[in-house]
Amino acid sequence: MSKNKILEEILNEVDKHPEIMSRRDALKYLSVSPLAASVLASASVGAASASASSDVTGKIVIVGGGLAGMSTAARLNNTIDNADITVIEPDPLSVSYQPGQTLIGAGLWDLSDIQYKRDEYVPSGVKLIKGAVTAFDPKNNKVVVDGKDEISYDQLVVATGINLNYGGIKGLEGEISSATTDNAATKKTITQDGLHSIYFQDGAAATWEGIKELIEKAKNHKGPEKLQAVFTHPRGPLKCGGAPKKIMYLTHARLVEAGVRDKVEMTFYPNGGGMFGIKDYHTAIVKQFEERDFKWNYKHNLVAVDTATKTATFNKWKKVEKEFLDEMDEPYMKKVEVSEPVEVKYDFMHISPPMKAPDVVGKSEIGSQGPGWVTVNKKTLQSTFFNNVWSLGDVAGVPMGKTGGSARKQYKVVVDNMISVMSGKEPTAEYDGYTVCPLITSIGTVMLAEFNWASKKPGSGVNAASFPLDPTQERWIWWLLKVYALKPMTIHGMLSGKA
Ligand SMILES: Cc1cc2nc3c(=O)[nH]c(=O)nc-3n(C[C@H](O)[C@H](O)[C@H](O)COP(=O)(O)OP(=O)(O)OC[C@H]3O[C@@H](n4cnc5c(N)ncnc54)[C@H](O)[C@@H]3O)c2cc1C
Repeated sequence: MSKNKILEEILNEVDKHPEIMSRRDALKYLSVSPLAASVLASASVGAASASASSDVTGKIVIVGGGLAGMSTAARLNNTIDNADITVIEPDPLSVSYQPGQTLIGAGLWDLSDIQYKRDEYVPSGVKLIKGAVTAFDPKNNKVVVDGKDEISYDQLVVATGINLNYGGIKGLEGEISSATTDNAATKKTITQDGLHSIYFQDGAAATWEGIKELIEKAKNHKGPEKLQAVFTHPRGPLKCGGAPKKIMYLTHARLVEAGVRDKVEMTFYPNGGGMFGIKDYHTAIVKQFEERDFKWNYKHNLVAVDTATKTATFNKWKKVEKEFLDEMDEPYMKKVEVSEPVEVKYDFMHISPPMKAPDVVGKSEIGSQGPGWVTVNKKTLQSTFFNNVWSLGDVAGVPMGKTGGSARKQYKVVVDNMISVMSGKEPTAEYDGYTVCPLITSIGTVMLAEFNWASKKPGSGVNAASFPLDPTQERWIWWLLKVYALKPMTIHGMLSGKA
């Protein structure tokens, strides 16, 4: 995508919400700031990153036409002469822009800002099957659609995304599949009475209503006890690991704006033992939490909600050394997890649910134990068991890879490696674990946390930053990138297979 096109798209986005920023202000910022110029220049990098054309032949089937699947289809289509590509996708709004759900939750965008129609993003010449895969048969190179139609393939890409397992928490219901908009069971509890979640579209819209209700309650609140706003972060990998905190920061911003922040105690309950897996970002976030008077309790996993009494139950866990006996009755020590229940009253609670692969994937031969992710070589993204099966996006079993930013790196690796294998060569392109978390810290600032697997090594620091700026700082320029530039880059750049 060219710099001018990005600028035009940014200004179109700005025009949609003049209450956030006027076009005049946006132009002023963009023209006076050398940083903005640098961001825009970097944002348009990748426009020319089409891979060399190839004359390989074979039938390619892509299961899931969301962000990862449709971008892969577009890039394969751009690259292979006379490509034979089929995308299987049931949701007519599959390419909707999920990162915008955080902004909807805070009343900054509405649903029309993120909903995009699948049929307008199917690359020309690519076949679309409007259905869901109900069985994988990798030994016979086939999938079954809607329980009846067998589709065979030479190469298979699995990009089904992730399921939101609200029903895994006692007292809540439903597992929302990324393949359906059916969320009726979950909506029986979440979306009302102070219980909210931005992870699904209707939930995001209802979260803003919930924040407004909290504000009204706070305005009328008397007495020394504060209202309790609780934010959870589940056990296990989740898509956009920053979202549980982003909605907390934005709720804070709305409470401050309404003049009622002092009436509400805001507490974060993450399952993990830190704010972020990378030390520099962890330290920056702790400082941001302290500045905003946020409270937090590590190692708390939400396991039950009693909606009648507005009580959340967390498993507070820790690891302890325990003595065991081996087969010769010799004692040995092993670390085991122990936990105790902790009950917490809430007036408002934002739930980030436990997540898993859809059962059709997890319980098949391409899936795995536990959450069921597709087992792949984490660098080449090729299935561990089937050389003609590939996976990327949220459903792929790679560490830290569950963001649109990861998918943006992964789809190029899958395309290059699949074409190598179709040419009789080894897959050599490698994903390095890159992911990005534009952590919204207020209305107007973002900390752009970019990292990869190497960032975890002691002393690596913030090694994956794309821009020549300290990424641990909160900046308006990242807000500009997050709120105005990333959507056009995704919808026009990534979904066309180029950016
Ligand atoms: C609240 C929120 C905030 C986020 N913020 C950010 C952010 O700031 N930055 C960022 O980079 N990412 C963010 N993300 C994450 C990002 O949106 C996802 O990582 C990305 O959409 C993953 O793409 P995907 O193609 O793997 O999955 P999806 O885009 O979910 O697509 C999966 C598709 O597979 C289809 N499917 C499922 N099962 C089947 C089946 N059996 N047969 C056929 N099709 C099937 C579904 O219908 C769906 O269309 C956020 C997500 C949320 C929810």
